[in-house]
Amino acid sequence: MSVEPVRKIVIVGGGTAGWMAAAALTRIMGDLPGFSVTLIESESIGTVGVGEATIPQIIGFNRMLGIDEMQFVRETRATYKLGIEFVDWLRPGHSYVHPFGTFGLDMLGIEFQHFYFRGRALGDTAPVDAYSIAAVAGKAGRFFWPRSDNPKSPMSKLSYAFQFDAGRYARFLRGMAEAAGARRVEGRIVDTALHGETGFVRHVELEDGTTIEGELFIDCSGFRSLLLGQALGVPFTDWTKWLPCDSAVAIPCELGGRNEPLTRATARTAGWQWRIPLQHRLGNGHVFSSAHIERDAATEMLLANLDGKPLADPNQLRFTAGHRDRFWKKNVVALGLAAGFLEPLESTSIHLVQSSIARLMALFPDTGFGQVEIDRFNSETLREYSDIRDFLVLHYRASERDDSEFWRYCRNLDAPGGLAEKIEMFRSSGRIFREKNELFTEASWLSVMLSQGIEPERYHPAACILDEDETRNRLKHIREVIAQTVGQLPLQEDFLKQQGGAIPAAERMTA
Ligand code: FAD
Repeated sequence: MSVEPVRKIVIVGGGTAGWMAAAALTRIMGDLPGFSVTLIESESIGTVGVGEATIPQIIGFNRMLGIDEMQFVRETRATYKLGIEFVDWLRPGHSYVHPFGTFGLDMLGIEFQHFYFRGRALGDTAPVDAYSIAAVAGKAGRFFWPRSDNPKSPMSKLSYAFQFDAGRYARFLRGMAEAAGARRVEGRIVDTALHGETGFVRHVELEDGTTIEGELFIDCSGFRSLLLGQALGVPFTDWTKWLPCDSAVAIPCELGGRNEPLTRATARTAGWQWRIPLQHRLGNGHVFSSAHIERDAATEMLLANLDGKPLADPNQLRFTAGHRDRFWKKNVVALGLAAGFLEPLESTSIHLVQSSIARLMALFPDTGFGQVEIDRFNSETLREYSDIRDFLVLHYRASERDDSEFWRYCRNLDAPGGLAEKIEMFRSSGRIFREKNELFTEASWLSVMLSQGIEPERYHPAACILDEDETRNRLKHIREVIAQTVGQLPLQEDFLKQQGGAIPAAERMTA
């Protein structure tokens, strides 16, 4: 048996997806003799330029690349993120944090939430956020790294991610990829040639007539999906009926207001507004359904709700929720917006790029391009998209809001996939099952279901093993330990200064 490795990789597109792929491929495969990575991008087309909030999995990606965290934080103007603060989603005036990490402590082999529900039945009124160190620290504006070496510390229950400047992130990765041998070609692709017999992509052609050949093409061309969608004709599955938002307007502004290590998502009458505090500025955007609000009105609503002076003109974007029917066909693998798009409510797009890169590395082809590996890549990627879709739909469906046409539509959304069963199981007995290693953990489902008004009717009988006083005391003790621990953490801005991640004060854009 002999294997001829694929050695000639062509990446089409130099947005976040393209440079993440280039950095990862050169890092992991770069020592293979004859291995080459060529990335083609067009400055005249540019990148989507948004995508500033992430989830904790990015820590693993950065570690795999050997990134120094403080250099990364300084260069991308990053802040830390401990979760998302959801404002006005259940009803106007209500807010909660969907934190990273876990809640409370599992006891007697039973998940924490069952003791929490019993505590509530006994009259304990503390919100579930009080049992999450990430939520409490986030709201207090404090941060320190988790203590994974000490499982007894509440700090072992914390996870974190970053909020960063998307353009700077792509440039940072570009620097790494080029240093590791990736070649960048500037130019606009005008044509794609396929092999007559196999239908594989043979080369792409640039405006100036140059052709660039490859064995494996990674389509990171954004919403255009130049290779997978256009050249290979893979259709798009539209999920608008579940995720009706199809537009966004984004604008950076000066720093202002409270800037905790949290992304904020505030529900609006026909969508929601994001607010992402970076070290030098705030990122803002309004994601909306164009069937329910005019673009001008959505833009005005965004401009009326900024915490600082705008730093650019509003950037208008359109998208369709959904995905390509296949993510890998023949010798083309699509990543990022070329593969699909789910609105940024839970900051999952960069993660989808990263997890697809990990999957591609696990299933990396030889020149025989085995179909069974390709099928596996496609089924796992589709499962991940579907799991995220279900979690996003939960946020819209589990709301008391009926103050606009949009929210009335959302309340009556069909539950896709396994969502209906998940909600019913939770409502019936407070139980949550994480299916096949899905991205969002039991803690995430607990946070959003409970905070958005889904009340369990019962809880696990084993929670009654502790008597009433013991239940109350243990819950109180957990809250106190979390509050005390958070009180000793530094404020995020002090942490950044102490650890060498702070940018010079002159670069902070404030009024
Ligand atoms: P793009 O950035 O569009 O890059 C496409 C590349 O292809 C460019 O370099 C372009 O020049 C090149 N290209 C295209 N056509 C050609 C051609 N003919 N010839 C040569 N080159 C070409 N993700 C998150 O994780 N967190 C968030 O908070 C978040 N917020 C978002 C908010 C909005 C409103 C949107 C729309 C997306 C958001 N995302 C977020 C998603 C995130 O922005 C993208 O997943 C990420 O930027 C990857 O984009 P990309 O690289 O696939 O595409």
